[in-house]
Amino acid sequence: MARVLVCGGAGYIGSHAVRALRRAGHAVVVLDDLSAGHAVAVPSDVPLVRAGMHEVAAVESALARHAIDAVMHFAAWLDVGASVRDPLGYYHNNVTGSLAVLTAMQRAGVRVLVFSSTCATYGEPERVPMDESLTPRPINAYGETKLAIERALPHLATADGLRYVALRYFNAAGAEPDGSIGEDHWPEIHLIPRAIEAATGGRPLTIFGDDYPTPDGTCLRDYIHVTDLADAHVRALDVLMAGGASGIYNVGTGQPHSVRQVIDTVSRVVGQPVQWQMGVRREGDPSALYAASDRITQALGWHPRHPDLETIVQHAWAWHRSHPRGYDDRPDRP
Ligand code: UDP
Repeated sequence: MARVLVCGGAGYIGSHAVRALRRAGHAVVVLDDLSAGHAVAVPSDVPLVRAGMHEVAAVESALARHAIDAVMHFAAWLDVGASVRDPLGYYHNNVTGSLAVLTAMQRAGVRVLVFSSTCATYGEPERVPMDESLTPRPINAYGETKLAIERALPHLATADGLRYVALRYFNAAGAEPDGSIGEDHWPEIHLIPRAIEAATGGRPLTIFGDDYPTPDGTCLRDYIHVTDLADAHVRALDVLMAGGASGIYNVGTGQPHSVRQVIDTVSRVVGQPVQWQMGVRREGDPSALYAASDRITQALGWHPRHPDLETIVQHAWAWHRSHPRGYDDRPDRP
C-alpha cells in the first residue's frame, strides 16, 4: 500500500485514477485548484487540498502532512489548438507548474512519480503504429511542454534518485462503467463528447478537415478507455514502489479510428445522427496517431480491458445521458 498525492485528481483522467488506486488498496490525497476539475468528482472520504500546482509550499506541505510516498501528476492544460495560439500560457502552466511539483517533491524527499504525458510528443510520426523508439518531434506547444518535462526526468533521476514512469496517452475517452464519474470539460473540445453533444440537440460538430492522407480523409486516432489509462497508472506505481525501473510508455489500443468512424459509432450508440459540418484543418493536428503498446505490456503487464470503440462510446454515452450537464457545478455553464 502506498500513500499517493494525485495532482489534478479532480479532473477527468485523475478522478478515474483515484478510483483505481483506492480499489488497489492505496491511500489517496488529491491536490487540485478546481480551475477545470470538479470537487464532486473526488470521493468524499479522500482529502482534497485545494491548491495550484505552482504553489510549491502548498504542494510540499501536502506531501509532508500526508506522509506521501509517490505523486501522480495529471494537472495540465490539454487543448492542442489553444496551445498553438497561446504557447507561453502552455509553457507557464504545463512546464513551470510541473517544475513546481518536482521542486516540492525534491524538498519533501518524495522520489516516485507517475507523469501524464502524451502521444503529441511524437508530432507527425515517421511511421505508424508508433513505438517509443521514434524520435519525438512535437508539432504543437502542448506536445512540447509534455516532452520538456519528460526530458527533465532522467536528469532528476541522476541528481536526486527520482524514479518515474511517464505515460504517453493516446486519446482518452469513455467513463467509469458504473456511470459515477466521466468527462466534464467546459467548453468541451474532445471528439467523442462533442459528437454526443451534436447527436443530442447541442452544438453541431465541425470535422477539422477531410483532406488528410488517410482512407476517408479525416484524422486517425487511437481512443483509449479512461479506466484502462487509470489501470496503467496503478501498474506503473506498483512497479516503481517495488523498486522497478523508470520508463516511458505508450498507452493506446493500437486501433486507429477516423473522425468519420467515431461519428458513425456515436450515431449508432446514441440512436440519433450526429449533426456535423465540414471545416478546415485544426492547426497542430497530425494526420494519424496510433500506438504500438508492446513496451508497456512487457514492462507493466498492461493490456486494455475495453479496447473496442463501441464500448468506449457506450460508456461515454451512459455518463452523458445520466449527467447531461456534467457535474452541474459551474454556474457560468449555459
Ligand atoms: N476533431 C474534430 N472536431 C472536433 C474535435 C476534434 O474533427 O470538434 C478531431 C481532431 O481534429 C482530431 C480528433 O478529432 O483528429 C481527436 O481530437 P480531440 O480534440 O478529441 O483529441 P486530440 O487528438 O487533439 O488529443
